[in-house]
Amino acid sequence: ITSKLPNVGTTIFTTMSQLAAETGALNLSQGFPDFDGPLALREALARHVMAGHNQYAPMTGLPALREQVAVKVRSLYGRNACADREITISPGATQAIFCAIQAVVRAGDEVIVFDPCYDSYEPAVQLAGGVCIHQPLTLPDFRIDWQRLADALTPRTRMIVLNTPHNPSGALIESSELDRLAELIRGRDIYLLSDEVYEHLVFDGRAHASVLRHDELYQRAFVVSSFGKTYHVTGWKTGYVVAPPALTDELRKVHQYVSFTAVTPLQWALADFMAGHPEHIVELPAFYQAKRDLFCDLLAGSRLRFERAAGTYFQLIDYSAIRPDLDDVAMAQWLTREHGVASIPISVFYQRPPQGLRLVRFCFAKREETLRQAAERLCAI
Ligand code: PMP
Ligand code: GLN
Repeated sequence: ITSKLPNVGTTIFTTMSQLAAETGALNLSQGFPDFDGPLALREALARHVMAGHNQYAPMTGLPALREQVAVKVRSLYGRNACADREITISPGATQAIFCAIQAVVRAGDEVIVFDPCYDSYEPAVQLAGGVCIHQPLTLPDFRIDWQRLADALTPRTRMIVLNTPHNPSGALIESSELDRLAELIRGRDIYLLSDEVYEHLVFDGRAHASVLRHDELYQRAFVVSSFGKTYHVTGWKTGYVVAPPALTDELRKVHQYVSFTAVTPLQWALADFMAGHPEHIVELPAFYQAKRDLFCDLLAGSRLRFERAAGTYFQLIDYSAIRPDLDDVAMAQWLTREHGVASIPISVFYQRPPQGLRLVRFCFAKREETLRQAAERLCAI
């Protein structure tokens, strides 16, 4: 067979989680909590399954859940998004991203992505017949290089993919940068895909600069989030897209033939939980900041170096004082096999990894006990 995706292999998340399982290592690689979602949420799911909410939901998503998303984006970002015309529930953010890309990217179009870049964007662009133009974020702080971005725009540029808070670096885009972006693309036929799945995981009192807050950018944006991250249930694979009506119409044309809809009882449970527990998202930043700080404080005595993540549930760690001889892929393997802690090398998220990159990513969405054990092992190296 002539592959449509010749350069695509198995994802690093599968590879490292499998290696962790095989070796019995603590798995701080793939991003998911090792604790469960809220009891009331899981009980709501059981209740709805037993109540017979087991047939297809409407194609656009359960009205009660779309309404909860509308309430949330209004209160957090001041955006009056219409639940019927601007909000679509998806079976996971990954599916939403895929559909948004298929909806607007045509053969020969260019899509700008920033490296290190989450791995699902490029294959989706390639399947649409487009090509990704990779822009490296600046080091060491993972910011957009605005001159470089301006120089990269061409008449073929159809989409720019933003990801804030950023996986894997934890960096945040500032609201002033959104103004700058608006200025740069004004008058051009360019859409935005804003991957905001870690929107609630922002620390040290900083604010998430959502594209939903930005009137001008929102007019051409698909804003994607994931209930999996927000409610500690990554296996539920449920997310949503907020986009202006004309873009939502195009998105839904794809969504209805990729999956048609998302899982019904999960949507009921999420709608109930959001309505009954508005405090959950308010408490989330402090909840994860405490985990970040515990992990970082425990590592203070190690030879690992880091700047605390500003957002997400990932911490980048510079290991150059320990094994400067190993590249990050080899280091992640070595740490898993020899020291029992699995991480993610970040060079795999680059088209051209910077020379001498010595960073691996640890997920701190873990119980205190797991973080203590992992830190103990890392401090012993
Ligand atoms: N975008 C980013 C940046 C992510 O880290 C993830 C999480 N895995 C996703 C999208 C996909 O989220 P979901 O599991 O809801 O498909
Ligand atoms: N987004 C998660 C991470 O970055 C993994 C999701 C996946 O396994 N595809 O680790």
